[in-house]
Parts: sequence; C-alpha cells; structure tokens
Amino acid sequence: MTNSLKLAVFTDLDGTLLDHDTYSWDAAQPALDRLARQQCSVILASSKTAAEILLLQDSMALSGQPALVENGSGLIGLVGTHSPRTYTALREILDLVPQTLRAHFRGFGDMSAEDVSSLTGLSPKAAALAQTRDYSEPGLWSGGEEELRTFYTALAQHGVSAQRGGRFLTLSFGRTKADAMTHVIHALKPDLTLALGDAPNDVEMLERADLGVIVANPHHALLPMLAGERDGRIIRTRDPGPVGWNIAVNEILDRLFPE
Ligand SMILES: [Mg+2]
Repeated sequence: MTNSLKLAVFTDLDGTLLDHDTYSWDAAQPALDRLARQQCSVILASSKTAAEILLLQDSMALSGQPALVENGSGLIGLVGTHSPRTYTALREILDLVPQTLRAHFRGFGDMSAEDVSSLTGLSPKAAALAQTRDYSEPGLWSGGEEELRTFYTALAQHGVSAQRGGRFLTLSFGRTKADAMTHVIHALKPDLTLALGDAPNDVEMLERADLGVIVANPHHALLPMLAGERDGRIIRTRDPGPVGWNIAVNEILDRLFPE
C-alpha cells in the first residue's frame, strides 16, 4: 500500500549504500525494494562518473532517476539540466600549479586504468569508466598538510576547489552535492528529503535534507557532531555500509509508511 507522501532519498555510494571493500549493496536490497514499492525517488549521489552511475542505476532498477555525479559537479537524469563539461579545463589548470606542488597530486588523468584498478579494487573495465570524466578530477595527495594548503591556494586562484572524500582528494569548479541536490529538489518537489552519507563531502547534503543518516565507516575518522544531531534530525548507524543503510531506511520507512 502506498500513501501520498513524496519522499526523495539522496544517497552517497562508496561506504554508504555500497560496502567499502566489496562495493556490494545486497544488504540494502530490502530497504531499496520498499522504497520502490512506495514510489520514492532514490537519487544516487557520488564521486562516480555518469558512465559508472548509469550502469549502477541499471543494476539497481533505478534507471531514469536523477543522479548527482562526480560529487555533484554534474547532474544526470533531469530534463533541461545542463552541466557544463569542465574536465579538460581542470587538467589544464593543474598544469599551471607550481611543479613542486603538482608533483604531490596524482590524478586519475595521470594514472593508467591498471593504476586506478589497483587503487580502488575496481575491475580494469570499471576503472576505465571511472576515468571517463566530465566535471572533476579525483587523485591522491602525497605531500604534507602545509603543502596541501598551498596547493589549495594555488588552485583557488583559478577557481578550482578541492574536497576530501573517503579515499580521494577531488578537484572541481566548486559545485557540491548539496548544490546539485537543490536542483533536484526544485525539479522533483518532494514533501520530504532524506540523505545518507559517510564522509565529510556528504555533510552539506546531510544538513540540507529534512532527515539525515550518517552511515558508520570504520575505515576513516568519525565525522564531527553535526548540528542536526542535537535535535534528532540526523542520526548515526551502528553498522557500516549497506547493513547500516538498510536498518536506518527501514526504521524511517516504518515511521513514514507503516505497513
Ligand atoms: Mg562515501
């Protein structure tokens, strides 16, 4: 049975809906099925590229739903939304940064598909899709914290900002998951929004949503206490990845759509 509440769920993938190590979402399938039965929108919001997200949407029976790609610097699945492609410009700006700093940043564009594969655990074919970029450049930083701040300043002079996700430092022209989320909310006009994430680059999205879930990720430092946690708008899961995702979403659905 469905009720008329329009719920839109924005979810990060790696370490949130997908297991940090295996990339499986099996444990979250019961909650995903329930969201489908209630005709809720499920908007994948990830650092992944459009090429990767389209495949995942297909496997998850979410084809045609909007999705936030490359950390929100791009948006797919919404008619009339145009995200200017900026990858070539980003790579050109990287070459303008002083060589002493540039040498510490190894972006996906500096790596072979085999490099990306061994770093991420993706198959070489999937790694090639991760390298099919339109809007942003993830990479590894091998320098110190002080050099990193100088790197940020050098990039900022060209309008480029950097964000730290679970694994990578990602460069873009600054549009975030929360910015792209605002576009989706304007288009879908949901009654209620729920966001789930595990890393600092999800915080704005968690704060922007009506309800937020911080999914436990023992692979990195705990997120600091968020404002919404004090009033219970944002909760934390005990279990990591899709297991925590499934429990939290089911509990929220129990309240919103009692079966
Ligand atoms: Mg994540």
